[in-house]
Amino acid sequence: MEILVCVKQVPDTAEVKIDPVKHTVIRAGVPNIFNPFDQNALEAALQLKDNQGAKVTLLSMGPPQATEVLREGLAMGADDAYLLTDRKVGGSDTLATGYCLAQAVKKVAEMKGIAQFDIVLCGKQAIDGDTAQVGPQIACELGIPQITYAAKLDVDGDKVTVKQQNEEGYIVTEAHFPVLLTAVKELNEPRFPTIRGTMKAKRREIPQLSAADINVDESRIGLSGSPTKVRKIFTPPQRTQGLVINEEDPQVAVDTLIEKLTAQKII
Ligand SMILES: Cc1cc2nc3c(=O)[nH]c(=O)nc-3n(C[C@H](O)[C@H](O)[C@H](O)COP(=O)(O)OP(=O)(O)OC[C@H]3O[C@@H](n4cnc5c(N)ncnc54)[C@H](O)[C@@H]3O)c2cc1C
Repeated sequence: MEILVCVKQVPDTAEVKIDPVKHTVIRAGVPNIFNPFDQNALEAALQLKDNQGAKVTLLSMGPPQATEVLREGLAMGADDAYLLTDRKVGGSDTLATGYCLAQAVKKVAEMKGIAQFDIVLCGKQAIDGDTAQVGPQIACELGIPQITYAAKLDVDGDKVTVKQQNEEGYIVTEAHFPVLLTAVKELNEPRFPTIRGTMKAKRREIPQLSAADINVDESRIGLSGSPTKVRKIFTPPQRTQGLVINEEDPQVAVDTLIEKLTAQKII
């Protein structure tokens, strides 16, 4: 079983800064972390490696420092890692990002001498962009089925059974290889990298791919290839201080609360 996990290095959202002119995230000087949902995706792949001998490959698209998350993933137990890095892919929106990653998935399969990956795993969403669009976009580009919001995953032969989380509860969905899955937190508890794994990962050569290597149509990538443009980014206004209803009599307190909520058209 060949599994590819898409992992994104994200700025720690507590310390994000925005370029006021280009309206893009300024990465320099902001601590970077492994996107948390991608750790759940990787853990799911590593459990299939432990139990069923799957091979686990990592793929990231980003600036050269994104190799840090790839090394972390290798230290957790992934077998291989590839970085797609090229100024030409910078500024891509989700459509362009999904296209680039899908092309890279095909290229990595070719480099590994396999027809295609059986399972492509992504996180539900990245904590910086927060769109949850890239996983499904990759599946569309690859022309394979997708099961999003995976909270439990079983693989039997080439059949994948997923407990899929939604607003009302869960749906159990099945698909056959090849399939793309996106992981939610509930799926598992990601393991920590081992010291031995970290030492080994430090010495690993991580192949880098350029836009030319993955055979992209240049009109579909980067800022100019993105149909959406971020025109403005701003910090949401601070919430005003709450109101404490301090009545002795609980009935009066409830009446006052209902009155206030009704006045604000909340109820
Ligand atoms: C309207 C709009 C315009 C944008 N314009 C710009 C822009 O001008 N410049 C700019 O720099 N950015 C821009 N972005 C941000 C950029 O599109 C996103 O960073 C990128 O597409 C990933 O989307 P996301 O962060 O929402 O990921 P999600 O869709 O939330 O991510 C889901 C999963 O996909 C995988 N994934 C996502 N991105 C990567 C990656 N890079 N490598 C590996 N796996 C990945 C991960 O597994 C992740 O958990 C824009 C976004 C939007 C919505």
